[in-house]
Formats: sequence, C-alpha cells, structure tokens
Amino acid sequence: MLRDSVITSINTMFCRICNTPSSQYYKDSRVFYKCPQCSLIFTDQTIDRKGQEKHYKGQWKNSDKEHIINSADSLLTIINKYRKPSRILDFGSGSGELTEEFLKRGIATTPFEPMIHGCLENQN
Ligand SMILES: [Zn+2]
Repeated sequence: MLRDSVITSINTMFCRICNTPSSQYYKDSRVFYKCPQCSLIFTDQTIDRKGQEKHYKGQWKNSDKEHIINSADSLLTIINKYRKPSRILDFGSGSGELTEEFLKRGIATTPFEPMIHGCLENQN
C-alpha cells in the first residue's frame, strides 16, 4: 500500500477510498485530510498505544446526552447528502449511546464494538 503514504504535495494526499487528491482538513498533533469527492476524513499518522487507549476510554460511556444528540445530527447531515440511511452500522460503537440515538430516530442501527464483539476482543 505504498500509494496510501504518497503525499501529492505538501498539504495533499490521495483519498483512501476513491483516490482523489485531498487537501489538509484539520491539524492537531496529527494532520487530517478530507476528500472533496466522497468526504472521507483520513490521516496516515497513527497514534501510539497510550494515545489509542486514552481516545478509546474518552469515548466510552460518554453520558453527555447533548454531545450524543449533536453527534447524531452531524453524522446524519453528512449521510443525508448522499442518501437517506435505511440501515447504519455503528462501527466502534463503544457503549452504544449513538446507536440508541439512531434507533430513537427510527433508523435501523447495528452496533459493533471491536473490543467487545470481535477482532480486537483479545487485545488489551
Ligand atoms: Zn474519496
């Protein structure tokens, strides 16, 4: 996957889905790019194990209901640009609060949390 890491210019990378040149979208400790064709937001800068754990635990049981409602609104705004969702796979669903919000809105949603449901369940 050499192509994934090829930078087309200083602030551009090829989209991992549709291969469209994508400009820098956001930067904190990592640089993220947004595809103008399919809206994928991506980075080639992985975070270390400690950073992954901090991010994961920060997402778990986020009881801020307003945050969950705002997240659902934002995601549905993006999804509805392409099509009305009939089913959603909530990959990385954590404790399932976002799944619950989608279900309340009448959207069939399947939660999948790799740390619980498979593929990563044996990793700490
Ligand atoms: Zn794309």
